[in-house]
Amino acid sequence: MQFIERLSRWVMSGPRAWLSIIFVVFFIFLFVYQSTVSPKKGPKDFVLPSLDAHENHPSSNVTSPLEALYPNLNADEDNNYDSLITTDPLQNVDKVVAPLPPIEYVIKPGDTLARIFARLGLSRGALYAVLEADQEYLILEPLIPNDKFTFKLDENGDLVELTRVIDISKSVSYVRHDSGAYTYQEHIKPITYTEKAVHSKIVGNFYLSAKKAGLSDTNILIIHDVLKGRVNFRKDLRANDAFDFVIKSGSIDGVKVGEDQLEALEITVKGQVYRAFLHSDGRFYDIDGNSLTPALLRWPTRKHYRISSPFNANRLHPITGHPAPHNGVDLATPTGTEVLATGDGVVTRVATHKYAGKYIVVDYTGPYGSRFLHLSKILVKKGQKVKRGQVIALSGNTGRTTGAHLHYELHIRGRPVNPMTAEIPTTQSIPKKEREEFDNNVKQWIVMMLLKQVENTSPSDIQTEAVSTQQPE
Ligand SMILES: [Zn+2]
Repeated sequence: MQFIERLSRWVMSGPRAWLSIIFVVFFIFLFVYQSTVSPKKGPKDFVLPSLDAHENHPSSNVTSPLEALYPNLNADEDNNYDSLITTDPLQNVDKVVAPLPPIEYVIKPGDTLARIFARLGLSRGALYAVLEADQEYLILEPLIPNDKFTFKLDENGDLVELTRVIDISKSVSYVRHDSGAYTYQEHIKPITYTEKAVHSKIVGNFYLSAKKAGLSDTNILIIHDVLKGRVNFRKDLRANDAFDFVIKSGSIDGVKVGEDQLEALEITVKGQVYRAFLHSDGRFYDIDGNSLTPALLRWPTRKHYRISSPFNANRLHPITGHPAPHNGVDLATPTGTEVLATGDGVVTRVATHKYAGKYIVVDYTGPYGSRFLHLSKILVKKGQKVKRGQVIALSGNTGRTTGAHLHYELHIRGRPVNPMTAEIPTTQSIPKKEREEFDNNVKQWIVMMLLKQVENTSPSDIQTEAVSTQQPE
């Protein structure tokens, strides 16, 4: 006892006290560390995260897309992972490992691209590289539940190709190059078009009558736009007033594609006949070729700003040399410059993109649409109707930019065109050289509608149809 007393007095005196406390604390830490950390890392710690997660919770009901595709992956948990990697290291020397079959990913509510990539064990680098390519097309978002993405991976589980089906006629892929950058590819099937004349009468209000006759909401809206200012749809129309129209529908292998296109319209209001006919520029004209669709503005700003980067469909990436088009025109607008709708239309998207920044998409009457990127402030809501020249946003510097500017895109039938040079309706009547084409179409449609009217007064129910197959433009 005397010895211990002496030892403790020696240990606890002066700087030795500190040294001994440090020693004791160190040993406690060492003990705690050894008891919590697993002794060694096995190869299974490096399996794809989603598979690994499942392995740790074999009773979990959550099925990852990978598991849905490869159900037997989990049958014999340990062996299967090994067989994927191949057990014999020499096997890899001569044989090329077969690429994995594509993964079909069905979008779920609440998904984000980042979450989907993470679930499939894809890198953030791949996500950013795909988003970079998407900046000029913006087709990956919005994510719509039940839509599908197809991921093609290489033997390392890295993304080779990402495909989104836009509709039955069109799908789009981002395909990886050796440089690691992705480029845009489109796959299009030819559409068969059918024209049909319909004869109908007003029963109740125009909207219900038009719906009953088979017109879509979009086409009813077009009729409103085309005839507004001349026909008051609430007051002027009477029961039994006649209306006739010609619509063109597209199909692939018998399956309907896209929306019906209204081509001709004839409506009798208080004994007066109003007519509208579609021209190849996507706008409606009266029988004399005078425009019924408002024209478009060339510039989306009040002033003409310097073009800091022109539209260039054939631009190549400065480093990789792969296609990296510039689908719009960059205007050197200071932040806060008023951005104008270039036509009458509807705001179809208000969103934020990693590279495009704050942006809006506006669909105009006719085949025109536009996009405005890198905005600082958005002044419209999704679904809002806008007028040509209306201030819809303030330009800015959001997303990835090298300075404040407005990236403005103009699309004709979904295709980006150079907004500064494209043939857009800024005039109010059909140009002389296109007049013959227009008149021929008008004659054909009038005959179709006339036949339908005659047919409706007789008991026969033969349809007047014209079928043509066209490659989409
Ligand atoms: Zn741009």
